[in-house]
Amino acid sequence: MKGTRTREDDAAAEARLVAALRDRGQRVTSQRLVIGRLLRELDRHVTAEEVLRRASEQLPGVSLPTVYATLDLLAELGEARRVSVGGPVLYDPRTEDHVHVRCRVCGTVDDLDVPLESARALRAARAAGFEADGAELVVEGRCAACAAAGRR
Ligand SMILES: [Zn+2]
Ligand SMILES: [Zn+2]
Repeated sequence: MKGTRTREDDAAAEARLVAALRDRGQRVTSQRLVIGRLLRELDRHVTAEEVLRRASEQLPGVSLPTVYATLDLLAELGEARRVSVGGPVLYDPRTEDHVHVRCRVCGTVDDLDVPLESARALRAARAAGFEADGAELVVEGRCAACAAAGRR
């Protein structure tokens, strides 16, 4: 499921982040750029704690609340997605709507490369007066590794 995603040139991605920050009147700090780059490099669903572990080499003294705030800002800017599918909140460098699979045994979250047709649900929610932030489709079950190992 990995490897099929198109990887954007890192310089282009960074330039887009800088532009997005400036557009919103947000300061362009090395902290924000480093965390944005780490998320792109990790290229999977990660917790703020994982980003913190990686970031502390490059950003000595950075705290978990700062990492959370920065990841939430990236999500607000459309440069990351917050994925809340049970378990800790995950941050996803892939920003377009997509479907997730979640293993109920080991907690692994991965992408499914099918388009998520959420437009109708979002329209219906808005018609009902609901201020929708987004929609998630999560396929739950056992991942191939857990199924093969007989883990339940
Ligand atoms: Zn599993
Ligand atoms: Zn994803």
